[in-house]
Amino acid sequence: MGQPVAGNPTQYMMEMAFADAGLDWRYLTMEVPPDRLADAMSGLRAMNFRGGNFTIPHKTSVIQYLDELSDAARLMGAVNCVNRVGDKLVGENTDGKGFVESLRTLVDPVGKKVTLLGAGGAARAIAIELALSGVVAMEIINRSVERGEQLAAQVRDNTNTSCEFKQWDGNYEVSEDADIVINATSIGLGDAQAQVPVAAESLQSNMIVADVIFNPPETQFLKMAQERGCSTLDGLGMLVNQGVIGFRIWTGVEPNAAVMREALEEYLEI
Ligand code: NDP
Repeated sequence: MGQPVAGNPTQYMMEMAFADAGLDWRYLTMEVPPDRLADAMSGLRAMNFRGGNFTIPHKTSVIQYLDELSDAARLMGAVNCVNRVGDKLVGENTDGKGFVESLRTLVDPVGKKVTLLGAGGAARAIAIELALSGVVAMEIINRSVERGEQLAAQVRDNTNTSCEFKQWDGNYEVSEDADIVINATSIGLGDAQAQVPVAAESLQSNMIVADVIFNPPETQFLKMAQERGCSTLDGLGMLVNQGVIGFRIWTGVEPNAAVMREALEEYLEI
């Protein structure tokens, strides 16, 4: 069995997990230009790959080369994980599932009320997956109106979760009855001092506060929530869990999530 390769955080996490599980598998990283995606997908089929992760700019365009989609991937209009089942390629989205799996370590989302900050790719994945997991009500808070309204309508029209959009203007006051508050914006990425514009006093100690930012994982937003007595979840948990889910889908084996988190922390030097 080869030594784990450390080309990027996800590759190192997966290769360490393969080694830990005694699997002689490889997780390769390949950069494919948008106009060569069709060729890459033919290659993936021809070389009998078990599957793969897909990232920007391929998350939507890869769909045309797949045979089937999971419900979540279809609703999100985005695939980040492909699995070969027989001779079919099936598209999944594990970003939102990774978040929900991380959330479940603290609370069951069924019947909960969620405030979601952001309406980009990460927010979309989380919103759809939380709605499919039984969240009763959600409010989407976003700076730009169009993206926020579109996501709220997508949740309302396709799931049983009630969902409204509010434009983000100044310091947002979280409603008293929110159970879970999530920063799904890119505020805090690579900047440990960045402030998410949320009124600190509107966070109550019974709320669970989560952040998608994994580098650095200790964001100002989570620090503010901890000072208010909230339980918190960092973005590393989401990243580890989307890896855990991909690992399970491809190998059928349960990976060691602690080994995966350690690998990420080692790679990111945190
Ligand atoms: P997008 O570019 O698709 O969306 C960015 C979002 O952040 C938009 O809602 C945007 O609002 C909002 N935003 C950015 N800057 C500001 C600001 N100054 N004030 C208010 N809102 C702001 O990015 P993604 O959704 O793909 O990624 C978001 C973050 O999630 C990234 O940092 C990424 O690293 C992280 N991520 C983490 C994962 C994990 O596993 N932990 C998985 C996937 C992503 P607007 O629409 O107004 O522009």
